[in-house]
Amino acid sequence: MKISDILKNDRISLSFEVFPPKTSETYESIKKSALEIAKLSPDFMSVTYGAGGTTGSYTLDVCESIVKTGVTPIAHLTCVCSDKNKIRETLTSFKEKGVENILALRGDLPQGMTEKSLDFTHASDLVEEIKSFGGFCIGGACYPETHPESENSKQDILNLKKKVDSGCEFLTTQMFFDNHILFNYLYKIREAGITVPVIPGIMPVTNAVQIKRICSLSGTILPRKFIRMVDRFGNNPAAMKQAGIAYATEQIVDLYANGIKAVHVYSMNKPDVAEKIQTNLKDIIG
Ligand code: FAD
Repeated sequence: MKISDILKNDRISLSFEVFPPKTSETYESIKKSALEIAKLSPDFMSVTYGAGGTTGSYTLDVCESIVKTGVTPIAHLTCVCSDKNKIRETLTSFKEKGVENILALRGDLPQGMTEKSLDFTHASDLVEEIKSFGGFCIGGACYPETHPESENSKQDILNLKKKVDSGCEFLTTQMFFDNHILFNYLYKIREAGITVPVIPGIMPVTNAVQIKRICSLSGTILPRKFIRMVDRFGNNPAAMKQAGIAYATEQIVDLYANGIKAVHVYSMNKPDVAEKIQTNLKDIIG
């Protein structure tokens, strides 16, 4: 099913993200986690893609297993290290395996790699390529707290408009921990003429590794409430997990209550976290 059709529906939706293995050793356990998440019957599942393209075959395999469960997958695809031929080959494989949705991303050059793509400078170039290939619903990424490379939010939104005008049918946001940031951002992008659906991406922060990563992200505002939660429970894994799931649930309820229809959860290959969030929202998502 095309995600654009899911988003046209008037009902509330909830979707989950998984990332593919980096090596063959973890393949089976990660695929098992993805399939456990699929058993929850989310509205769709996204599968990330390594920017260097090295995990591309795993993204394809995980998507194929999701297709077989009857859940709609969306494959992420990056272009920073790729060229038109490789992208077309990858799109052909996705199509053959029944994948109908692509999240088109530029990606970041992996450490140690210096050669950027000659064919693609921005994600909007990839969006154009996928559109001319045909047959896919195309999504893109957006940044309520501004992409770190952008001079300012105004410029970032103008660039986003170009991406949408190239053929993006919806946008998924970078994680954020204060819903006011999203509401302000939505106001600004609508004012700039971007009218496609925006799916907020919510990250349940459940362990110390994630906390470290988030704190290292430039520009992510951590509300006092969030900092107090991490200060109080960060050293107690079980308590941090429970608190992180509760925080994410509260964010999602507030988003739905304010009229957002679709929310995407960065479930990080954790079926138990996905399941708890879904259970917490059981009567809301129906
Ligand atoms: P772009 O849209 O190209 O934007 C990058 C920068 O260029 C921005 O500053 C933008 O303002 C600017 N820009 C864009 N278009 C133009 C233009 N026409 N002219 C001038 N400037 C322009 N990374 C992965 O490696 N794999 C994944 O699976 C993955 N999934 C992600 C999913 C989501 C929802 C998000 C939010 C991010 C994801 N990322 C992933 C990270 C992403 O690859 C990085 O954030 C990357 O730095 C930017 O990718 P982009 O597609 O947003 O790039």
